[in-house]
Amino acid sequence: MRVVCISAECEPWAKTGGLGDVVDALARAVAAIGEPEATAQQVVQSQVWVGTGGVMGQAPSGVSAHVERPVDVFLPRYRGVSVPEDAKVTPLVVPDPLAPEGVTEVSLVEFEARGYRVRLIDHPPAFDREGYYGGIDGDYADNGWRFGLLCRAALEALLDDDRPVDVLHLHDWQAMPAVLLRDVAYAAYPRISSAAVMATIHNMAYQGWLSREQLAGLATPDEIAELVAPGAEGLLLLREGIQRAELVNTVSPGYAGEVLTPAFGMGMDPVLARLGHRFGGILNGLDTVVWDPATDEALSATYSRGDLAGKAQCRRALLTELGFDPDDDRPVLGMIGRLDPQKGFDLLARAAPALLDEGARIVALGTGDRKQVSKLRAIAAKRPDAVAVVEKFDRGLARRIYAGADLYLMPSRFEPCGQGQMIALRYGTPAIVHRTGGLADTVVDVDAYPDEGTGFVFAAPKTAALLEACRRAMSHHHAGGEAWAALQDRGMAIDWSWEAGPAEQYAASYRRAVSLRRER
Ligand code: ADP
Repeated sequence: MRVVCISAECEPWAKTGGLGDVVDALARAVAAIGEPEATAQQVVQSQVWVGTGGVMGQAPSGVSAHVERPVDVFLPRYRGVSVPEDAKVTPLVVPDPLAPEGVTEVSLVEFEARGYRVRLIDHPPAFDREGYYGGIDGDYADNGWRFGLLCRAALEALLDDDRPVDVLHLHDWQAMPAVLLRDVAYAAYPRISSAAVMATIHNMAYQGWLSREQLAGLATPDEIAELVAPGAEGLLLLREGIQRAELVNTVSPGYAGEVLTPAFGMGMDPVLARLGHRFGGILNGLDTVVWDPATDEALSATYSRGDLAGKAQCRRALLTELGFDPDDDRPVLGMIGRLDPQKGFDLLARAAPALLDEGARIVALGTGDRKQVSKLRAIAAKRPDAVAVVEKFDRGLARRIYAGADLYLMPSRFEPCGQGQMIALRYGTPAIVHRTGGLADTVVDVDAYPDEGTGFVFAAPKTAALLEACRRAMSHHHAGGEAWAALQDRGMAIDWSWEAGPAEQYAASYRRAVSLRRER
């Protein structure tokens, strides 16, 4: 099976959130399934699809389980992305509905990443901009053209390759033009039209609406006539992609169940429900090499399960860095994330006065909508000894917070999976989470399950509920001792690695997608 991913983010070239982490780690992990020594043990032969109702499907026999290498990741070359000197650069002529001649020349920049091949689409008018998706005025109006160009360029590159592609793994709305184009513009090209599509939804909140005017950048008038019903005002890329894909998944079983309901589906619930067994959830893994307190170079001291002396040193270093008293034992609560209403920074701000009264200190790191932390910023201005709000994208500081904080906060209103809580647990920092989506699937409340708990779970995205969970967490932290050490240890002991399960689930799903494509 030849597998090709298309995504708007992939670490370390482009990341605003978990999507970047996941695409990088997943590409590497599924490519590793192609290693001869791995196939016998690692490829799960039958059970694939962990949905809310349990296993939802079977991997077919008769489709090769062997993932060919290299696995490709197509990605835009955004501003500031540096490439290795030995990268291969090839001009590529790409159909472009907005170009006067109907085509635009872009560059394909290819190189080996750790375990897979990166294929950057380099076209400065589209991608050399301040942001990936938008600037201070909001989303770029020509995102349909930009991500359409990414997908067309990827398909053109695949047409030129010496091997046909079996699976196109499309991540989020930015990659969905690829399946629309497969069915419309490339229907007569078996190399593309025979490819199975697996569509992964990393966040239902972003659906990629294009008005008819914006669609003109994505498709020609003839193609638009095939894609959009007469009278419709435009097209929702995610919905159209979901309907055309062979298989659709989201990134945790819990969120997969939630998005089938109107409360979480954001209008997509009936579309997903119609897919039946072609929709499910696969829990994201975590790259346990990239995220490892035993080797993390951003930390002032490393540590591992069984010896947390280094974590105490990381705590002191973090507190000093933030201007807090490093000798104060009272709990430090860390929170990292995109500044978006989803993440619940506002809930933390409302809980903050009470938390400070009870001796907590708070560090928040994030970028995005600054309004989300305006209250917290005001509190930080008055209490710089106890609250730090850092508004930048800082990979190193993020790592120092995961390691140096005593507790990690994730009060998300909804959470497709979440990498933050997994990283925190791996770094020995118990997580306080809202019981939703992937958070509910990954964190066990220690008061409810004293022998299995890894954190503190609350039921409603409300200030009072968050505060109650923080109080329980702070009381456990204050009590310390063996119970606290055991709580940390259980979190650190979890094997989140892609190899431990999710990579195999994707590989088996790819086989199922190939088989479904053959039936169509
Ligand atoms: P989401 O995908 O919704 O953004 P996740 O928890 O799945 O949330 O992933 C967030 C990822 O982005 C984590 O690796 C987190 O450390 C990282 N991250 C988010 N904001 C920042 C920031 N301001 N600086 C550094 N890393 C960040």
